[in-house]
Amino acid sequence: SKNNGVNGYSFYFDELHTDAQRVLLLDTELRKAIESREFELYFQPKVTMEDEQIQGLEALVRWRNDKLGFVSPGEFIPYAEETGLIIPLSEAIIEKACEAVIQMQQSGWKIPVAINISSIHFKQQNFLESVQAILERYNMPASNFEIEVTERTVMNSANETVSKLVRLKQLGFKISIDDFGTGYSSLSYLVRFPLDCLKIDRSFIQHICSLAEKQAVVDAIIQMAHRLKMKVVAEGVEQAQQVDILRKMKCDIIQGYYYSKPLPLNELMEFMEYWEIEHQG
Ligand code: C2E
Ligand code: CA
Ligand code: CA
Ligand code: CA
Repeated sequence: SKNNGVNGYSFYFDELHTDAQRVLLLDTELRKAIESREFELYFQPKVTMEDEQIQGLEALVRWRNDKLGFVSPGEFIPYAEETGLIIPLSEAIIEKACEAVIQMQQSGWKIPVAINISSIHFKQQNFLESVQAILERYNMPASNFEIEVTERTVMNSANETVSKLVRLKQLGFKISIDDFGTGYSSLSYLVRFPLDCLKIDRSFIQHICSLAEKQAVVDAIIQMAHRLKMKVVAEGVEQAQQVDILRKMKCDIIQGYYYSKPLPLNELMEFMEYWEIEHQG
C-alpha cells in the first residue's frame, strides 16, 4: 500500500511518483521471481468439526523479495492477473504444491492440498492440459489435490465452465467454491456443477457472533449446501465462540487462525505431529 513501500521510504516522496516506481519495481521483480521460483508456499490446515482431524491443507503463496520486502498475495496476485503473469506464476505454484506433497509423503503424511486457481488461469483454453502436464511430470495423481475457484470464476460462460469442472473431477480433483457469498446472488449454478465444497467467506464468519443477519445467512448456506451433498468450510475462524455457533449449524470444516495460521511446510508438519498426539482416541 501507499505508505509502506520499500523500507518505508515512499512515505517521504510524492505519492504518485513512488506508487508508479513501486509498480515498475513490482513488475521487474515479479518477472524475475517467477523465473527464479522465489516464491514459497505456506499451508493452513482445514479441521473437521466432528472429530478435529486435519482433513486438508490450503496452499497460500508467499513472496519475500530483496528489494520489495514481503509482498502480500493481495498485492501481487491482482497485478499478476492484470499482466497475464498469473499463468506462469500459477504453474510454478502447482509445481511447488507437487513438491510439497512429495515431501509430506516422505514424512508419512497423506493429506490433500488445496490450490487456489485464478479465474484468468482457469479460463485459459489449455488450462486442463497445462495442469495435467505438471502432474504427469511429478507422477502425481490428481486425488492429492483440491482446486479452489471463486464464485466469480464459475459464474461466467457456464457451459464451458461446466465441462471444465466435469473434466477436473474426472481427473480426480476435488473442487471447492472459494469466498462463497461474495459473488453473484444466483445459486442456480450450484446444481449444475460437480462441486464438493463451499467455503463461506470470512466476511460472514467475522460478525457471526454479533449479527443475527450473518447468522441467518450462514445457517441457510449450510443447509442448502448439505441438501446439495456438499461439505461446508468456514473460512477465517478466529474465536471459540464462532466455532460454537458453527457447530450448532452443523458446519463441516473449520479453517482459520483459531487452529493455525498458514505455516511453512516444515512447521506445518511439526504442527500436525503435535496435533496427532493431542487428538488420538
Ligand atoms: P483466500 O483464498 O480466500 O485465502 C484466505 C486468506 O485468508 C489467506 O490470506 C489467509 O492467510 C487468510 N486467513 C486464513 N485464516 C484467517 C483468519 O482466521 N483470519 C484472517 N484475518 N485471515 C485469515 P493470504 O494468504 O494473504 O491470501 C489472500 C488471497 O490471495 C487469497 O484469498 C487468494 O485469493 C490469493 N492467493 C493466495 N495464495 C494464492 C495462490 O497460490 N494462488 C492464487 N491464484 N491466489 C492466491
Ligand atoms: Ca482460497
Ligand atoms: Ca477464501
Ligand atoms: Ca478471499
